[in-house]
Amino acid sequence: MSGPVLEVADLSVRYRTPVGPAYAVDGIGFNLMPRERMGLVGESGSGKSTTVLALMRMIRPPGEISAGHVRLEGRDVLALSEEDLRRTRFARMSLVPQGAMSSLNPVLPIGAQFADLFAAHDIDPDDGHVAGLLSRVGLPPAVAARFPHELSGGMKQRVCIALAIALTPAVILADEPTSALDVVVQKQVLATLGRVQQDIGAAIILIGHDMALMAHFVDRIGVMYAGRLVETGPVKTVFRSPTHPYTKLLIGALPSLTARRAFQGIPGVPPSLTERPPGCPFQTRCPIAEARCRIEAPAPRPVGSDHLVACHLVGPA
Ligand code: SF4
Repeated sequence: MSGPVLEVADLSVRYRTPVGPAYAVDGIGFNLMPRERMGLVGESGSGKSTTVLALMRMIRPPGEISAGHVRLEGRDVLALSEEDLRRTRFARMSLVPQGAMSSLNPVLPIGAQFADLFAAHDIDPDDGHVAGLLSRVGLPPAVAARFPHELSGGMKQRVCIALAIALTPAVILADEPTSALDVVVQKQVLATLGRVQQDIGAAIILIGHDMALMAHFVDRIGVMYAGRLVETGPVKTVFRSPTHPYTKLLIGALPSLTARRAFQGIPGVPPSLTERPPGCPFQTRCPIAEARCRIEAPAPRPVGSDHLVACHLVGPA
């Protein structure tokens, strides 16, 4: 496949609330190429996890996908029947969830959870198939007989990765897969995820808020703010030359081993998702906002090769 494996356009997710709709994701778009590693970063509540759930069509009421398109290997995910969707999940696009403990069934041994997955897709695996999958994520075959509560956090997350690659999907969505782990285990689990992703030739979207971890893993990065993608580009370009004012502040807030300086935060808070002001969502925290920013929402514009920024004050006039 030479074109994108995943195409996302104008995707919006809203939640019905007593005070009106809350837009958790607001018109985002991007393409993911085969084997590509893309990262999505942003503060809590910026819409990263909601985006992943929307791609899997796992938004539940009172939430709904209110607009947009998601095409996976050319197929319109939002138009799939429930049965086609069930067959697509894990087989063509899988999810490594944020909390391994809450996504694994606590009353079933690990081997039975693989058996359920294969049965749901009418697959009769060879003897040793589960042991082979466990081995690929660095776990011994004996793990198949254990219950989730008998495993460490890192082992459970490795099981989730093995489940996610079991049917060799074209796209893996990994929602903060290492957030509950200590730093050493985080690096190991991420290295395992990267290795198996390359082995099966899948593309991956990694959600996270650890910019340093992200910088070492992904090829391209998208920065989300208040439900919008404010900057996307090759990870080296974005780290070396952050262009959106929010990205600049995010990267400026990273601790440095060499430069001695006071910790820099980002003043203010993101706008309420139910009381969104007109114009740019970053206007109340932006150090260079001007009058136009309070009226008109900026659309993403190219500022370099494969580099898009949604800000009135950067890019071509
Ligand atoms: Fe700041 Fe205006 Fe750019 Fe928004 S559009 S990031 S408020 S300068």
